[in-house]
Amino acid sequence: MEFRRVHWLLVQPPWFSDRVVLVGDAVHAAPPNLGGGASMAIEDAAVLTDALTRHADLPNALRNYMTRRWARIENIYHKSYQAKTMSSVDPRKYFSVNSPILREALASLTIEP
Ligand SMILES: Cc1cc2nc3c(=O)[nH]c(=O)nc-3n(C[C@H](O)[C@H](O)[C@H](O)COP(=O)(O)OP(=O)(O)OC[C@H]3O[C@@H](n4cnc5c(N)ncnc54)[C@H](O)[C@@H]3O)c2cc1C
Repeated sequence: MEFRRVHWLLVQPPWFSDRVVLVGDAVHAAPPNLGGGASMAIEDAAVLTDALTRHADLPNALRNYMTRRWARIENIYHKSYQAKTMSSVDPRKYFSVNSPILREALASLTIEP
């Protein structure tokens, strides 16, 4: 069995230089908690192919690919990160009767007579 640390990254545009362009995890390696990384890489490839078909000029094609992908990539990346954060929370810490966080929250409530 092999254990490796899982890293995540979100590269800010631009993702291309001259004739080199990044797709998939090289741009957006999100925490795996949504299970969507492979489909995002496939979507990148599909949009890149489409952009290259529509634009004869390479820099324009690569810019088009990047512009079309950015909002979705950023959105899925942040949702994956939220899912990772939620899955790593110990529910006992927040929801048990003896939870210091819960007690602090209750103590902060002001009850008017
Ligand atoms: C624990 C875990 C669970 C996951 N579960 C899911 C899931 O359930 N569903 C899902 O959709 N996604 C999942 N993912 C994410 C998914 O695996 C990735 O998002 C996806 O594989 C990215 O594809 P890619 O082609 O961009 O990169 P990769 O799959 O990493 O492919 C890159 C390839 O390039 C090769 N390479 C690297 N450097 C060089 C080099 N210098 N020369 C030649 N080759 C090189 C690598 O060996 C590799 O084969 C998971 C990820 C992890 C870590």
